Formats: sequence, C-alpha cells, structure tokens
Amino acid sequence: MERKVRVRFAPSPTGPLHIGGVRTALYNYLFAKQHGGDFLLRIEDTDSNRFVPGAEDYIIEALNWLGIKADEGVGIGGSHAPYRQSERKEIYKQYVKQLLDAGKAYIAFDTPEELEQKRTEIKNFQYDASTRMQMRNSLCMPAEEVKQLMDSGHQYVVRIKIESNEDVKVNDLIRGEVVINSSILDDKVLYKSADELPTYHLANVVDDYLMEISHVIRGEEWLPSAPLHVLLYRALGWEDKMPRFAHLPLLLKPDGNGKLSKRDGDRLGFPVFPLEWHDPKSGAISSGYREAGYFPEAVVNFLALLGWHAGSDKEIYSMEELIKDFSLERVSKSGAKFDYEKGKWFNRQYLCAKSNEELAEMFQPILKEHGITADAEKVAIVMGHTKERVNFVTELWDQCSFFFVAPTAYDEKTVQKRWKADSAQHMEMLIGVLEGIDDFSLENTEKIVLQWIQDNNLGMGAVMNAFRLAIVGISKGPHMFDITTVIGKEETIARLKRAIEVLK
Ligand code: GLU
Repeated sequence: MERKVRVRFAPSPTGPLHIGGVRTALYNYLFAKQHGGDFLLRIEDTDSNRFVPGAEDYIIEALNWLGIKADEGVGIGGSHAPYRQSERKEIYKQYVKQLLDAGKAYIAFDTPEELEQKRTEIKNFQYDASTRMQMRNSLCMPAEEVKQLMDSGHQYVVRIKIESNEDVKVNDLIRGEVVINSSILDDKVLYKSADELPTYHLANVVDDYLMEISHVIRGEEWLPSAPLHVLLYRALGWEDKMPRFAHLPLLLKPDGNGKLSKRDGDRLGFPVFPLEWHDPKSGAISSGYREAGYFPEAVVNFLALLGWHAGSDKEIYSMEELIKDFSLERVSKSGAKFDYEKGKWFNRQYLCAKSNEELAEMFQPILKEHGITADAEKVAIVMGHTKERVNFVTELWDQCSFFFVAPTAYDEKTVQKRWKADSAQHMEMLIGVLEGIDDFSLENTEKIVLQWIQDNNLGMGAVMNAFRLAIVGISKGPHMFDITTVIGKEETIARLKRAIEVLK
C-alpha cells in the first residue's frame, strides 16, 4: 500500500532562515499539498551551542508571511507532538539503548584532547573500523572498566558502529541511485552524555520514523549524511519505513561560481533572508525580502522556479498553480543561479497585476509619511498612471509625488535644456488658454491645448517641455494631460504661475 505523504521542514534555530531554506520549505509544502499529504514543521534544536534566541520565532513568522502553512508542528501541535527536539530528550534515549543492546553502537570515552592527539599522529584520522580498536571505547575496554567509568560519572558519547566495505545505496528521487562505500564513513557520534542529547543524525532519523515521514526533501548539503541515515534505519530495524529522499540543488551566486552566501547579497545589494533579521548578539541588521518591499506571492513564485521548471514558458504561478504543477522529477540536479534581477521582475509582475484600488491602499501609509491626505479615488487613479514604472510600492512616491505636491525646485539640467527665452511668454499664454476651459477633462483639455499650439505655430516640443517642467519640476512622469486632469485646473495654473515667477 502507498504510504500517506508526510513531509517535514526541519530547520535548526541557529540564525535567520536563509532563502535557500525557504525554498526547501516551499518544495516540501507544494509536494505535500499536491498529494493531499501533511507538511510538518519540526525544530531541530539539539545542538545547544548553536542555538540562537529568536530564530525559531523568525522561522515561523517567515513561513507565515509566505503562506507556507504547516499542518502539524511547533506552534501548531498535532498527533506527533512535541515537535521541538529539545522536548523529546527521553524519546531518543530509548533508541540509543536499543542500538547499544543490539551491538550497532558503542560507548566511547575519548576526550577531545585524546582525539586531537590521534589526529596529529595519524594523517586523515577517522574514527572507524580501522582505528576504533586503538581508541578508548566499549569495544576494546573490559566491560568492568566501562561500567566503572560510567558509574563514576565520566562523560561519554555513543557512536554508531559502521561495518566497513559495504555499498550503501541512497535512492534519491532527483539524483537517482547514489552508492557510497561504507568505508569512507566514520563512526559518527549519536549521543552525548554531557547534555543527554542526541546529535542531529540520530534525532533526525528517529523523528522521521516516529513522525511517519514518507519523503525527506532537503538541501543538497545533507546528501553526504544520507548513507549514514540509511544505515541507522537499518540498525534500528526500520528499513521498511525508510522515507524516500530528494536532495535539492544548491542556490548559486548570481555571478561566478559557488554557493549563494550572505556576502553576495551584501556585495550586490539584495536580501538573502525572507524577513529583516536583528542579530541578538552583534545587533547587526540584515535586510529581508518583506522589508525590501516584496510581495510574498512574488517571492514564492521566484523561489519555486529556482531549481524547478514545468517544461513550458509559463512563469507566473500562483500557489494553487504551483501545487498543481510541481513535481520532484522536474527539479534539476545542478545548482540554480540566483538571479536577483529576475526576483525584481517577478515583483513587478505582481505589482502591475494588482488593482489600482489595492495599490492605493498600500500606498496610503507612504502618503501619510509625507504628510499627505488624499482620497482613495484620486490615489487609485494616480496608481494607474504610475504602476508600470516601478518594481516596488516603495518606489511609487518618486514616480508620482507631483500628483500630490507642487515642485519646490526645478531640476537645473532640465531648466537649462527646456526653459527657453520665450518659455515664460508661452506659459503666460497657456494660462490664458487653460483659464478659458470649463470642461477640464483629459480629452477636452488636450484637444484645446494642442489645437492652440498648432494654430499659433508655437512648436509642440517647446511648449510641452516647458509645461512639464512647470508642473513636475523635471522632465519625467506620465502623459501631461493625465497629470493635469488629476491635479485640476486651479493647481495647474498655480504651478504655471509659480514657474514663471521663479524661472523668468
Ligand atoms: N536540521 C537540519 C537543517 O537545519 C535538517 C536537515 C534535514 O532536513 O534532514 O537543515
């Protein structure tokens, strides 16, 4: 019988969630939803040295912002709770004992100094079948001594006993069959008596089993751990419940080679975190997609296509469409270049697709910051004239401030180029023409003004350029009569008068 699809996102709260981690969460979510399965959020916090306060909340907030909703997990609960590994201490102990009793693991007393000493003695030292009998562990020490050491409170670790020279197969849904010879693996530490906690490997495997995970979808950096995980499933007698693996390709630097890093973001000016992150230790602030003005739908769409392609030209996908079309088979094996400009492009597509009314609402707080109150209808019209010119809502003000406030200065270069000896006189005449217009609608005003220019042979460019300078303060902006219609007759004339005054 096919197992129910159950996948998990299992971040360690060691800092802000990297954008690559967000993609991992997204792919898990899409896969689960497509198969009518469950998506779990598990927090892997067994490494207390690397614990960072605030990281867990950050992860949850980021996933919420993006609409990647877990069915079970930390902050939600569920039938397999608790979902925070630090709260599952007792559970792991039982499996440590099971492995020890079955002879699949052993107790080791080597101190960090002793291990260091070995590393200097033996080149490329590895704790494995070829060296373990020279070490201080329960395989080579008398049982009496082991017991005595443990009873007297000596710290120890539990290591997996990996049999040498055995081919371990990892069946990966993206990479196919990956075969590794067990001789290259070391006897990894599974448990430490010092904090009574399992290491990542044991906790990860035990929880995947207990939480009935059917597919492990995670970053490529975990591929080297997969053979060990396969061996652990075997050692625990859970082979028939082993999840299918899928290791996702790396996100690569926008330029050059190698993995995308925070430094690339700093260097090229883009965020690598979903939300702004305030480092609790250094106080440093790292930028986030949310604060940079991205729409969550755009980030989701952008990330979905970094490593997956549907095999068509379609680029704009809603979450629903992604759930429908996503497939692990179409995830590429090779890394995906992080094309930041494409991210902006996606945001622009989503921005343009929003209604003018919706954008107006998003823009109101920015207007407020500039001390402007404007009615929703007017703002919506302005949005219609402006949205095609920006990638972000935060860029709108620069493109439309002149709809709300008269220019306080005139761009010098534009003045030199556009304000001619006869401009003041032309603008005086234009004021007269405008004053005579009762119906100040776009069509009517445009028709009358253009006719007047033509009849008087004034030169379209000369008049319109000076007109724009007077109204906007610089040579930019949408169609002139779109602007005058919004600001109205009185304001248009006032701005013309002021320009004549200042520039004459
Ligand atoms: N705790 C690991 C991480 O931080 C989980 C890896 C996995 O998904 O198995 O990514």
